[in-house]
Amino acid sequence: MEPVEGALDCGECSRGCSITLEVLRKREVKRIRPRPNLAVNEYWMCDHGRFSFPRFNAPGRLAGALARGADGLEPREPADALEEIADLVRVHGAPLVVASPWLTQEEGRRGEGARRRALLPVARASPLKDDFLPHRRPVPEPPRADGARLRAARPGRGRRAHARCGAGVPRGRGARRALRLEALSTLPASLRLVVFDTHPIPSPAACVELGVPDSCERTGTWLNVDGHAGMLAIARSAPPQVAPLVRTLEELARRTAQRREDKENGALAR
Ligand code: SF4
Repeated sequence: MEPVEGALDCGECSRGCSITLEVLRKREVKRIRPRPNLAVNEYWMCDHGRFSFPRFNAPGRLAGALARGADGLEPREPADALEEIADLVRVHGAPLVVASPWLTQEEGRRGEGARRRALLPVARASPLKDDFLPHRRPVPEPPRADGARLRAARPGRGRRAHARCGAGVPRGRGARRALRLEALSTLPASLRLVVFDTHPIPSPAACVELGVPDSCERTGTWLNVDGHAGMLAIARSAPPQVAPLVRTLEELARRTAQRREDKENGALAR
Protein backbone atom coordinates (compact mmCIF):
# COMPACT_ATOMS: atom_id res chain seq x y z
CA MET A 1 0.00 0.00 0.00
CA GLU A 2 1.35 3.43 -0.97
CA PRO A 3 1.79 5.87 1.93
CA VAL A 4 -0.40 8.96 2.09
CA GLU A 5 1.56 12.22 2.22
CA GLY A 6 0.68 15.31 4.21
CA ALA A 7 2.29 18.75 4.08
CA LEU A 8 2.83 20.47 7.43
CA ASP A 9 5.47 22.05 9.65
CA CYS A 10 7.77 20.33 12.10
CA GLY A 11 6.77 21.33 15.65
CA GLU A 12 9.93 20.19 17.39
CA CYS A 13 11.40 23.69 17.55
CA SER A 14 10.46 27.22 16.58
CA ARG A 15 12.20 27.05 13.20
CA GLY A 16 9.08 25.23 11.96
CA CYS A 17 10.67 23.54 8.93
CA SER A 18 8.28 22.64 6.14
CA ILE A 19 7.97 18.86 6.03
CA THR A 20 6.19 16.03 4.27
CA LEU A 21 4.78 13.32 6.50
CA GLU A 22 4.25 9.83 5.09
CA VAL A 23 1.41 7.85 6.67
CA LEU A 24 1.01 4.11 6.12
CA ARG A 25 -2.29 2.25 6.43
CA LYS A 26 -4.00 5.55 7.31
CA ARG A 27 -2.47 5.50 10.81
CA GLU A 28 1.22 4.96 11.13
CA VAL A 29 3.63 7.81 10.45
CA LYS A 30 6.59 6.10 8.77
CA ARG A 31 8.76 8.88 7.46
CA ILE A 32 9.34 12.62 7.62
CA ARG A 33 11.09 14.45 4.79
CA PRO A 34 11.97 18.13 4.34
CA ARG A 35 9.72 20.08 1.97
CA PRO A 36 11.42 22.88 0.04
CA ASN A 37 10.69 26.30 1.54
CA LEU A 38 13.30 28.91 0.65
CA ALA A 39 12.06 31.31 3.33
CA VAL A 40 12.38 28.84 6.22
CA ASN A 41 14.47 25.71 5.71
CA GLU A 42 15.49 25.82 2.03
CA TYR A 43 15.74 22.07 1.26
CA TRP A 44 16.85 20.80 4.67
CA MET A 45 15.74 19.63 8.06
CA CYS A 46 17.71 18.49 11.11
CA ASP A 47 18.04 14.86 12.23
CA HIS A 48 16.06 15.51 15.40
CA GLY A 49 13.02 16.54 13.39
CA ARG A 50 13.52 13.84 10.76
CA PHE A 51 13.54 11.08 13.37
CA SER A 52 10.75 12.50 15.54
CA PHE A 53 8.09 10.43 13.72
CA PRO A 54 7.66 7.75 16.49
CA ARG A 55 5.99 10.46 18.59
CA PHE A 56 3.01 10.37 16.23
CA ASN A 57 2.62 6.61 16.78
CA ALA A 58 2.79 6.62 20.59
CA PRO A 59 0.39 4.03 22.06
CA GLY A 60 -2.38 4.83 24.55
CA ARG A 61 -4.07 7.55 22.53
CA LEU A 62 -6.85 9.47 24.28
CA ALA A 63 -9.43 8.60 21.64
CA GLY A 64 -12.53 9.82 23.50
CA ALA A 65 -12.92 11.21 27.00
CA LEU A 66 -12.19 10.29 30.60
CA ALA A 67 -13.75 11.66 33.75
CA ARG A 68 -13.08 11.13 37.42
CA GLY A 69 -15.26 8.41 38.95
CA ALA A 70 -15.22 6.24 42.05
CA ASP A 71 -12.22 4.29 40.76
CA GLY A 72 -10.23 7.09 39.18
CA LEU A 73 -10.53 8.21 35.56
CA GLU A 74 -13.24 6.29 33.71
CA PRO A 75 -14.32 6.40 30.04
CA ARG A 76 -17.07 8.93 29.21
CA GLU A 77 -18.89 9.96 26.07
CA PRO A 78 -17.24 13.19 24.84
CA ALA A 79 -20.61 15.01 25.00
CA ASP A 80 -21.02 14.02 28.66
CA ALA A 81 -17.45 15.08 29.41
CA LEU A 82 -18.15 18.49 27.85
CA GLU A 83 -21.20 18.83 30.10
CA GLU A 84 -19.01 18.16 33.14
CA ILE A 85 -16.45 20.73 31.97
CA ALA A 86 -19.19 23.34 31.42
CA ASP A 87 -20.41 22.69 34.98
CA LEU A 88 -16.88 23.11 36.34
CA VAL A 89 -16.35 26.37 34.45
CA ARG A 90 -19.65 27.70 35.74
CA VAL A 91 -18.92 26.74 39.35
CA HIS A 92 -15.38 28.18 39.21
CA GLY A 93 -16.10 31.65 37.89
CA ALA A 94 -12.43 32.37 37.17
CA PRO A 95 -10.83 29.25 35.73
CA LEU A 96 -7.15 29.39 34.89
CA VAL A 97 -6.40 28.51 31.27
CA VAL A 98 -2.97 27.12 30.49
CA ALA A 99 -2.71 27.14 26.72
CA SER A 100 -0.30 24.91 24.86
CA PRO A 101 2.38 26.46 22.64
CA TRP A 102 1.38 23.91 20.00
CA LEU A 103 -2.02 25.54 19.52
CA THR A 104 -2.55 26.91 16.05
CA GLN A 105 -3.25 30.61 15.64
CA GLU A 106 -6.89 29.75 14.96
CA GLU A 107 -7.22 27.57 18.09
CA GLY A 108 -5.49 30.23 20.20
CA ARG A 109 -8.13 32.76 19.21
CA ARG A 110 -11.04 30.66 20.45
CA GLY A 111 -12.59 31.35 23.82
CA GLU A 112 -10.23 34.16 24.63
CA GLY A 113 -12.67 35.71 27.07
CA ALA A 114 -10.33 34.12 29.58
CA ARG A 115 -7.30 35.68 27.96
CA ARG A 116 -6.18 37.71 30.93
CA ARG A 117 -5.99 34.57 32.99
CA ALA A 118 -4.26 32.53 30.32
CA LEU A 119 -0.72 31.36 30.79
CA LEU A 120 1.24 30.00 27.92
CA PRO A 121 3.89 27.67 29.27
CA VAL A 122 7.12 27.66 27.32
CA ALA A 123 9.32 24.62 27.71
CA ARG A 124 13.01 24.98 28.46
CA ALA A 125 15.38 26.18 25.79
CA SER A 126 16.23 23.43 23.38
CA PRO A 127 19.78 22.08 23.16
CA LEU A 128 19.17 21.67 19.42
CA LYS A 129 20.41 25.11 18.39
CA ASP A 130 23.04 25.38 15.69
CA ASP A 131 23.93 28.12 13.22
CA PHE A 132 21.53 27.00 10.53
CA LEU A 133 18.17 25.43 11.35
CA PRO A 134 17.35 24.35 14.91
CA HIS A 135 16.24 27.19 17.09
CA ARG A 136 16.66 27.32 20.85
CA ARG A 137 12.95 28.04 21.23
CA PRO A 138 11.66 24.50 21.38
CA VAL A 139 8.11 24.94 20.11
CA PRO A 140 6.16 26.84 17.47
CA GLU A 141 5.65 30.48 18.36
CA PRO A 142 2.78 31.15 20.78
CA PRO A 143 -0.62 31.80 19.22
CA ARG A 144 -1.73 35.40 19.04
CA ALA A 145 -5.13 36.58 20.17
CA ASP A 146 -6.41 39.90 18.83
CA GLY A 147 -2.91 40.72 17.70
CA ALA A 148 -1.34 40.17 21.12
CA ARG A 149 0.53 37.11 22.18
CA LEU A 150 -0.78 35.15 25.08
CA ARG A 151 1.38 35.77 28.11
CA ALA A 152 4.25 33.33 28.26
CA ALA A 153 5.17 31.58 31.48
CA ARG A 154 7.80 29.14 32.55
CA PRO A 155 6.59 25.64 33.43
CA GLY A 156 7.16 26.23 37.15
CA ARG A 157 5.05 29.38 37.08
CA GLY A 158 2.28 27.48 35.37
CA ARG A 159 2.35 24.90 38.10
CA ARG A 160 2.35 27.48 40.91
CA ALA A 161 -0.54 29.28 39.29
CA HIS A 162 -2.40 25.98 39.17
CA ALA A 163 -1.77 25.42 42.83
CA ARG A 164 -3.48 28.75 43.66
CA CYS A 165 -6.44 28.16 41.42
CA GLY A 166 -9.65 26.20 41.86
CA ALA A 167 -9.85 24.93 38.31
CA GLY A 168 -7.33 24.72 35.52
CA VAL A 169 -7.67 23.94 31.84
CA PRO A 170 -4.44 22.98 30.03
CA ARG A 171 -5.58 23.31 26.47
CA GLY A 172 -4.38 21.81 23.24
CA ARG A 173 -2.07 19.10 22.14
CA GLY A 174 1.22 18.98 23.99
CA ALA A 175 0.20 21.00 27.04
CA ARG A 176 1.58 18.25 29.23
CA ARG A 177 4.87 18.33 27.36
CA ALA A 178 5.17 22.06 27.87
CA LEU A 179 4.16 21.95 31.52
CA ARG A 180 6.32 18.89 32.13
CA LEU A 181 4.53 15.76 33.14
CA GLU A 182 6.24 15.44 36.52
CA ALA A 183 4.92 18.87 37.59
CA LEU A 184 1.36 17.85 36.76
CA SER A 185 1.74 14.60 38.67
CA THR A 186 2.36 16.54 41.90
CA LEU A 187 -0.83 18.61 41.75
CA PRO A 188 -3.28 17.75 44.56
CA ALA A 189 -6.55 15.92 43.86
CA SER A 190 -8.41 18.88 45.41
CA LEU A 191 -7.78 20.83 42.21
CA ARG A 192 -10.07 20.32 39.26
CA LEU A 193 -7.85 19.95 36.24
CA VAL A 194 -9.42 19.68 32.80
CA VAL A 195 -7.14 18.47 30.05
CA PHE A 196 -7.38 18.57 26.26
CA ASP A 197 -4.55 16.46 24.86
CA THR A 198 -3.67 13.56 22.59
CA HIS A 199 -2.75 11.26 25.49
CA PRO A 200 -4.10 10.93 29.06
CA ILE A 201 -2.29 12.77 31.85
CA PRO A 202 -1.70 10.70 34.99
CA SER A 203 -2.28 13.56 37.42
CA PRO A 204 -4.23 13.22 40.69
CA ALA A 205 -5.80 16.59 39.82
CA ALA A 206 -7.12 15.40 36.45
CA CYS A 207 -10.89 15.64 36.59
CA VAL A 208 -11.94 15.45 32.94
CA GLU A 209 -9.71 14.65 29.97
CA LEU A 210 -10.79 15.04 26.36
CA GLY A 211 -8.87 13.85 23.29
CA VAL A 212 -7.77 16.35 20.62
CA PRO A 213 -6.29 15.89 17.13
CA ASP A 214 -2.53 15.65 16.73
CA SER A 215 -0.73 18.18 14.50
CA CYS A 216 -0.93 15.81 11.50
CA GLU A 217 -4.71 15.49 11.99
CA ARG A 218 -5.80 19.13 11.82
CA THR A 219 -5.61 22.26 9.78
CA GLY A 220 -4.42 25.65 10.97
CA THR A 221 -1.51 28.04 11.06
CA TRP A 222 1.69 27.96 13.04
CA LEU A 223 4.03 30.94 13.04
CA ASN A 224 7.74 30.25 13.15
CA VAL A 225 10.28 32.28 15.08
CA ASP A 226 10.66 34.75 12.19
CA GLY A 227 6.90 35.19 11.74
CA HIS A 228 6.55 32.98 8.68
CA ALA A 229 3.14 31.32 8.61
CA GLY A 230 3.09 27.59 7.94
CA MET A 231 -0.14 25.75 7.23
CA LEU A 232 -0.96 22.41 8.82
CA ALA A 233 -2.74 20.00 6.49
CA ILE A 234 -4.44 16.77 7.48
CA ALA A 235 -2.22 13.74 6.76
CA ARG A 236 -4.37 11.22 8.65
CA SER A 237 -7.78 11.22 10.33
CA ALA A 238 -8.14 11.75 14.06
CA PRO A 239 -9.83 8.89 15.97
CA PRO A 240 -13.60 8.91 15.27
CA GLN A 241 -14.61 10.40 18.63
CA VAL A 242 -12.02 13.18 18.53
CA ALA A 243 -13.40 16.50 17.24
CA PRO A 244 -11.33 19.49 16.07
CA LEU A 245 -10.28 21.56 19.07
CA VAL A 246 -11.86 24.73 17.66
CA ARG A 247 -15.23 22.98 17.44
CA THR A 248 -14.84 21.53 20.97
CA LEU A 249 -14.05 24.98 22.41
CA GLU A 250 -16.99 26.56 20.60
CA GLU A 251 -19.30 23.86 21.95
CA LEU A 252 -17.89 24.35 25.45
CA ALA A 253 -18.44 28.12 25.19
CA ARG A 254 -22.03 27.51 24.06
CA ARG A 255 -22.78 25.12 26.92
CA THR A 256 -21.15 27.39 29.49
CA ALA A 257 -23.17 30.39 28.26
CA GLN A 258 -26.32 28.26 28.43
CA ARG A 259 -25.53 27.32 32.02
CA ARG A 260 -25.12 31.00 32.97
CA GLU A 261 -28.37 31.90 31.21
CA ASP A 262 -30.25 29.10 32.99
CA LYS A 263 -28.87 30.29 36.31
CA GLU A 264 -29.87 33.92 35.68
CA ASN A 265 -33.36 32.89 34.54
CA GLY A 266 -33.68 30.73 37.67
CA ALA A 267 -32.70 33.68 39.86
CA LEU A 268 -35.24 35.96 38.12
CA ALA A 269 -38.01 33.35 38.52
CA ARG A 270 -37.42 33.32 42.26
S1 SF4 B 1 15.25 22.57 12.86
FE1 SF4 B 1 13.53 22.45 14.30
S2 SF4 B 1 11.70 22.57 13.02
FE2 SF4 B 1 13.46 22.06 11.64
S3 SF4 B 1 13.44 19.83 11.55
FE3 SF4 B 1 14.83 20.41 13.21
S4 SF4 B 1 13.54 20.34 15.06
FE4 SF4 B 1 12.16 20.40 13.28
